[in-house]
Amino acid sequence: MPGLFIDVEVSDEVRDDPEIAQKLADACPVDIYANKRGSVDIVEENLDECILCELCVQAAPPAAVRVKKLYDGTVLER
Ligand code: SF4
Repeated sequence: MPGLFIDVEVSDEVRDDPEIAQKLADACPVDIYANKRGSVDIVEENLDECILCELCVQAAPPAAVRVKKLYDGTVLER
């Protein structure tokens, strides 16, 4: 389930990477990511708290994380 305003996609290539899982958990100031036994867990109830800071996008390899703004159809990615 996405949030009302924000959805986050993490690619299959990095989803089970423990290092990325921890980097994302550390990066997001509003706890949208958690490190669940070495895999990336998206904390759905926090999605709409996203402040669009792009720290998660920068913490992950290119194309690994996409933050989708559901209200205008644009995406934060690299
Ligand atoms: S853009 Fe910032 S607030 Fe939003 S999910 Fe990424 S790290 Fe968290």
